[in-house]
Amino acid sequence: MTTNNVEWSIEDAERVYGVSSWGGGYFKIGENGNIQVSPDPKNPNIRIDFKSVVDEIAQEGIQFPVVIRFHDILRSQVVGINECFNQVIADAKYKGKYNGVYPIKVNQTREVVEEIVDAGAPYDYGLEAGSKSELLAVLAYNTNANSLTILNGYKDEEFIRLSLLGRKLGRKVVVVIEKYSELHLLIRISKELNIEPIIGLRSKMTALGKGKWQGSSGDRAKFGLTIPEIINAAKLLEKEGMAHTLKLLHFHIGSQLTDIRAIKDAVNESARIYAELHKMGFALEYVDVGGGLGIDYDGSKSTNDSSRNYSLHEYVADVVYGMKEVCDLEGVPHPNLVTESGRAITAHHSCVVTEIVGEIKADGAMLDTSKTEGEHVLLKNMRELLEYWNDEQNLQEVYNDASEWKEKAVSAFKLRVVSLEELGKIETLYWQVMRRLQVFYRDVEFVPEGLQHLDFSLSSQYLCNFSIFQSAADTWAIDQLIPVVPIAGMHKKPDINCSIVDITCDSDGKIDQFIVDRQLQNIMPISSLEPGEKAHLGLFLTGAYQDVMGDMHNLFGRVNEVHIFSDDDDPEDFYIEEFVAGSSVQDVLTIMQYHPSAMAIDVKKQIDKEVANGQIPPREGVKWTDFYENCLKGYTYLKTS
Ligand SMILES: *Cc1c(COP(=O)(O)O)cnc(C)c1O
Repeated sequence: MTTNNVEWSIEDAERVYGVSSWGGGYFKIGENGNIQVSPDPKNPNIRIDFKSVVDEIAQEGIQFPVVIRFHDILRSQVVGINECFNQVIADAKYKGKYNGVYPIKVNQTREVVEEIVDAGAPYDYGLEAGSKSELLAVLAYNTNANSLTILNGYKDEEFIRLSLLGRKLGRKVVVVIEKYSELHLLIRISKELNIEPIIGLRSKMTALGKGKWQGSSGDRAKFGLTIPEIINAAKLLEKEGMAHTLKLLHFHIGSQLTDIRAIKDAVNESARIYAELHKMGFALEYVDVGGGLGIDYDGSKSTNDSSRNYSLHEYVADVVYGMKEVCDLEGVPHPNLVTESGRAITAHHSCVVTEIVGEIKADGAMLDTSKTEGEHVLLKNMRELLEYWNDEQNLQEVYNDASEWKEKAVSAFKLRVVSLEELGKIETLYWQVMRRLQVFYRDVEFVPEGLQHLDFSLSSQYLCNFSIFQSAADTWAIDQLIPVVPIAGMHKKPDINCSIVDITCDSDGKIDQFIVDRQLQNIMPISSLEPGEKAHLGLFLTGAYQDVMGDMHNLFGRVNEVHIFSDDDDPEDFYIEEFVAGSSVQDVLTIMQYHPSAMAIDVKKQIDKEVANGQIPPREGVKWTDFYENCLKGYTYLKTS
């Protein structure tokens, strides 16, 4: 198929795919029509052609789908939030410091946590844990005595003992009380072990986060203390001679806060609580404003669920100035500021690259529809509709007739009036009529309502080698939008529309929400593939939550992973630092309680039996046995090369 490039430029591609809008300064469409990555904003000379990363992965024999991690993006996000806070704090003459922490639940991958800790070391950037397993990891990885370790989530006795082990190791471990009874537990155990805790109180805020996670605040929030509980907790600590251990006030009103007003509101409310506690004699040192810093997944800079109407700088300014204003009015010291941004730190650094392995077309197969003796009248009608086509016709009527006859043909088939072959011909002609209507309506401004779905019904479904349940769980579970775009070839004008389906046997395994030309659409324009042509799609901004939430649907399991570092001296500006193999079939079977080695022995026995019976020649028997064993050891996804 030839494409017309006359009216198509990289600017058009940018408009249609919006890469610069959601790319956060890291991704755009390069002059050659490929995704271009600038992983380090401080070094604009480093420009990585995404296509060459994909080519190198293929050359190394690594199978798709692959998670690609850009470590430099992770680093620059960590540096970015710290420098932004330091800058605003200096500008505002704010007296407290910034002591951010990264909540590891957002992406617990060891390499991710290590990179964040390393990049954050000059800023004493800390870690947050929300469960016992996370606490075990955080105790081992956050060894900086000056950075905070914040512990959220419900706690049992073991959790609290572990936190006190952290204190023994000289760490600034803050136990945040989520539920009143945890305080009794903490007081008892810290007295028993004679270790002084650092205590934080999580406040159930009235300020509501908007969007998909707004359940994190309000009266029915799962976590946090009410105002009477906060007062009682402070008084209880005073009575126990532990008032000085109460150092932090915490809130978290939800993830992906879309509207800056929710943040301002919550900062104001927490500043008031902090100031009042201070005046009651509790000299808290930190206010922790939690997570919630959003990502503009759809590039619209709006209060859409998948966007945010503010920048990092605005967010930081609202936290710093909001706190300062209240503290100055109340005459209390400026507290140190803590944030627990997770999504904003990790979302950009990783993406999933999948290969298009097939196309499912509505009108994929055509039958010869030439006239035959005694054919059914519905078939004759449908053919004539196409033969006597003229543009003077009422095309809405053409559409109505064709649709009606196709429906009737199906009923007639069931009544044994139309044969299977005739039905096939009727469908063939029907899709030809639809294609012609589509061509006509492509260039007109007003498309009658009944025909507005034409593009969708005629679009292809591109079958891609990945599982949505593993690699983009939120697009399925909560309709989260993520950018999905071709890795290369965007210098060509798209000539077809498609939606994406994955290789699970689940009808829900699909992506049919795209931002195209700033609009939400159920199909995306794409260049058609030549037979045998390989093409890759990228699912972007998957570094937060998606990366680690995948499930075992259809036993696909973890995806191969490639770690990319940028290097100005390299001709391609990057090198692959590490390859982590995804799940093998035997890995995922073992998780589900199977015994792959026993299975291999069983299958071998069955093959041997057939060999003994003379059903399979011995040489072939050995080959089948090896084949079964190799499949067990292999990658779970489709093998395409
Ligand atoms: C999940 C969570 C975060 C991270 O939120 P993001 O929106 O990803 O920044 C921070 N704090 C707490 C208590 C959380 O539960």
